[in-house]
Amino acid sequence: MLQCLLSPLESHPATLLNLVLKLANAAPNLQFSFIGTDHSNKPLLISKPHIPDNIKFYSISDGIPEGHVPGGHPVERVDLFLKACPENLQKGIDMAVTDTKERVTCVMADAFVIPSLIVAHRLNVPWVPVWIPFSCSLSAHIYTDLLRHKCNHATGDTLLDFIPGLSKMRVEDLPEDVVNIVEEETLFSKTLASLGSVLPQAKAVVMHFFEELDPPLFVHDMRSKLNCFLYVGFLTISLPLPPLPPSDTDGTGCLSWLDKQKGGSVAYVSFGTVVTPPPHEIVAVAEALEASGFPFLWSLKDHLKGLLPRGFLERTRGNGKVVAWAPQVPVLGHASVGVFVTHSGCNSVFESMSNEVPMICRPFFGDHGFTGRMVEDVWEIGMRVEGRVFNKDGLLKCLRLILVEEEGKRMRTNAEKLKRKLLDAGGPQGKAAQDFNTLVEMVSKS
Ligand code: UDP
Repeated sequence: MLQCLLSPLESHPATLLNLVLKLANAAPNLQFSFIGTDHSNKPLLISKPHIPDNIKFYSISDGIPEGHVPGGHPVERVDLFLKACPENLQKGIDMAVTDTKERVTCVMADAFVIPSLIVAHRLNVPWVPVWIPFSCSLSAHIYTDLLRHKCNHATGDTLLDFIPGLSKMRVEDLPEDVVNIVEEETLFSKTLASLGSVLPQAKAVVMHFFEELDPPLFVHDMRSKLNCFLYVGFLTISLPLPPLPPSDTDGTGCLSWLDKQKGGSVAYVSFGTVVTPPPHEIVAVAEALEASGFPFLWSLKDHLKGLLPRGFLERTRGNGKVVAWAPQVPVLGHASVGVFVTHSGCNSVFESMSNEVPMICRPFFGDHGFTGRMVEDVWEIGMRVEGRVFNKDGLLKCLRLILVEEEGKRMRTNAEKLKRKLLDAGGPQGKAAQDFNTLVEMVSKS
């Protein structure tokens, strides 16, 4: 029986479940137990009604003490969950063993849940962590000691060219708490800083990306440090993408609204599931969209709508649509969308790349800085907002550059080339297909 353990971070459980679904399909005789919290399991069970019989779900505590109400920061939840590990994880495993009467043969876990290594050690079985954020950001954690030694107090534009594969990255792109820690270090950041010593103990480290698109020096470096480094491609979308669903099946009305717009004219705006931009940035985005005159579709959570400038929704009703949730993949695949204004979350960036849509990136935390930098300086399929913060004039400039000027055409050409590379990488001859087979063999044998 293979155990799958995950962190309660918003998009991680869904990504990991997609990997387990692929594995369960490829190894139908192997039993999988998927261990999460109620908070992470419930939405998965609703969104994926057809779970095969060889995957069973188990819920463990989220580590939040009775009576404690967590604040708004997602890291607090992760800290509380990690604090309750590994005993909490062991409870989940005991539950699965009692229920299935099977022996645990391998522990596969979200790489954020490092205490799962202790559980694998206790059970004397292989440990296979999965790195869900953007690939190269792993180096920021593996090299934390060196980065702290060289870059504490360095300016934001200092290049990280002393780390293999990160020659385009800068100090300002690093995930928070790698250097220049201002407050007390969280348990989460201490855990991530230990990855350099912990990951070499893994039987394999699984990457949620394509080797063909990563800097070769990064791949080479990871291969020299880790026992086995496997890429399994995008786990949230499969390539080639399916045709768009009929617009009248989309209850949000986004697709039928897009049908009425001109090709390549619409700015689609979304900040993913976790980020809440500060109020002045919501206002800046609204002002830039309104002043630009470009049609826009904005996925904005209901509780943030009150922050929009007075009268904005009424004044822009003719060329704008604001929804609480958009079917993002088909939206990005719609011919009317010309640019994606994104928080640079890795799934959003993958989805945009897969649909050849240039991006305007406003990185917020974690891997966003690295993905934004890849978009602008490595793949050249978009740009970051000036100063990494939304302001009206800066966003207006980016929108015009991409939707009207030559620069935008150049980005679209690059995006087309990248998409072809992606299709090859995700095809039967790509590394992801080979590495996935290696993973299937590994978990089936153990
Ligand atoms: N998403 C969506 N509709 C929305 C907002 C987000 O479908 O209105 C999906 C999006 O397609 C992506 C995920 O939510 O798959 C967000 O993941 P990402 O890694 O970009 O950001 P996170 O939410 O983890 O910060």
